[in-house]
Amino acid sequence: MPDLVAPLTTWFRVHARDLPWRAPGYGAWGVLVSEFMLQQTPVARVIPLLEAWLERWPTPTDLAAAAPAEAVRHWANLGYPRRALWLHRAAVEIRDRHAGAVPRDVDALLALTGIGDYTARAVAVFAYGDRHPVVDTNTRRVLARAVDGRSQPGPPSRRDLEAMAALLPEDRSEAAAVNAAAMELGALVCTARAPRCDACPIAHACAWRAAGFPDTGDTRRRQARYEGSDRQARGAVLRVLRDATDHAAPWDSVIPDWADPRQRDRAIDSLIADGLAEASDGMLRLPR
Ligand code: SF4
Repeated sequence: MPDLVAPLTTWFRVHARDLPWRAPGYGAWGVLVSEFMLQQTPVARVIPLLEAWLERWPTPTDLAAAAPAEAVRHWANLGYPRRALWLHRAAVEIRDRHAGAVPRDVDALLALTGIGDYTARAVAVFAYGDRHPVVDTNTRRVLARAVDGRSQPGPPSRRDLEAMAALLPEDRSEAAAVNAAAMELGALVCTARAPRCDACPIAHACAWRAAGFPDTGDTRRRQARYEGSDRQARGAVLRVLRDATDHAAPWDSVIPDWADPRQRDRAIDSLIADGLAEASDGMLRLPR
């Protein structure tokens, strides 16, 4: 599909956001941490915390030497705090298996805790400049519309990687640019709710547009409401522990006035089950 590639990369070189992890020499550790933080969290919330994180732990070995509780504490309000524990475990694995250097090989990356198809390839491509397809939610939407003529992508599958691989030029740096450009187009122009086709560099070749924008269905999972959810209760418990002296508080003093006491207990139980909190002697604390 050469019709898409040249206009995509030309557009990207003019319109790409100036994001910290795109700076030359940002390093594989910085790219890896940024990818962990960007899963499910908007760019604007990630940037300040990412910079503080890399200042505190400039290498995987630095993070590996810290207590897991410190990682959870400094994850702050990024949400989905299991990612902090996974990143800490990945740092330990990088120190122990790879002499402290983030691996370049996709299979070695996939073997690290918390790293899936997307993140492994993103690190190999954006940090090391290798040639692999990188497919995130935004890319899947662009491919669904421009190539397949559908309004929304279907459930994630191996076919997504094959479809992106078919677009990539042989040249490694051009291939990296196409990967980044497709993601950026989905983030800025071909958005889920209101695609701006008048500003789209591949509008001329878009199958969905050519077909008259048919509604072909939407199988995306809706994110559950945060307000009143168990996630909100978990976040409130973690906030108490993050702010407590030594990151520990008497069990009974943790959000004692929560409107739904059963939800509070459920939140605490699930945090313990996830390894994000520990209980002993009537105290609840962040993992040591
Ligand atoms: S023309 Fe519209 S629908 Fe097609 S890829 Fe561009 S923004 Fe998306």
